[in-house]
Amino acid sequence: MYSGLVSPALLDQLAMLIPHGCAVGEIGLDTTYSVSLERQEALFRQQVQIAVQSRLPVLVHCRNAFQKTLSILAEEGAGQVGGIMHAFSGSVDMARQFIRLGFAISLSGTVTRPNAVKPLDLARRLPLDHLVLETDAPDMTPYRYRGRWNRPAWIMETARAVAELRIMDPADLAQACYDNSLRILPGLRGL
Ligand SMILES: [Zn+2]
Repeated sequence: MYSGLVSPALLDQLAMLIPHGCAVGEIGLDTTYSVSLERQEALFRQQVQIAVQSRLPVLVHCRNAFQKTLSILAEEGAGQVGGIMHAFSGSVDMARQFIRLGFAISLSGTVTRPNAVKPLDLARRLPLDHLVLETDAPDMTPYRYRGRWNRPAWIMETARAVAELRIMDPADLAQACYDNSLRILPGLRGL
């Protein structure tokens, strides 16, 4: 849901969908959108409030607005429900602050890119029990398949890259991330 299109009526619709969902998201802040950050913040707050009231975890999209996103999540009590910082592109220090609030950090195909720096740092240094993996398909295609639309089956490219950086068995890493996902999003078990 792009924030430029969000209206009070759509927020009502979001609230109505809650009984059918296992999380609220992606929601968040992105300075690369044409919608003003002020408007995005107001909508993000309302969406987080819906999630907290509904006791559902939050899937957060954040680009270039980490401090603001962290403040809003903390102020709105999102630590009570937790969630995932999807396709995280911030620093290790920033990631640790989100982890302290109760969020997991999701890594994507960017860890497979030869020029990657921050994602590798995240993959190496963050605690395993707060890591999850995603494809973000059709975006963030692993380097090996670059130029093509990403697909869920290629998640193992990301898993192999992260496992190599952490010097561990890819199967163990995949299992840990899977377990983390179910812990953070318990509603997945019912789907
Ligand atoms: Zn996103």
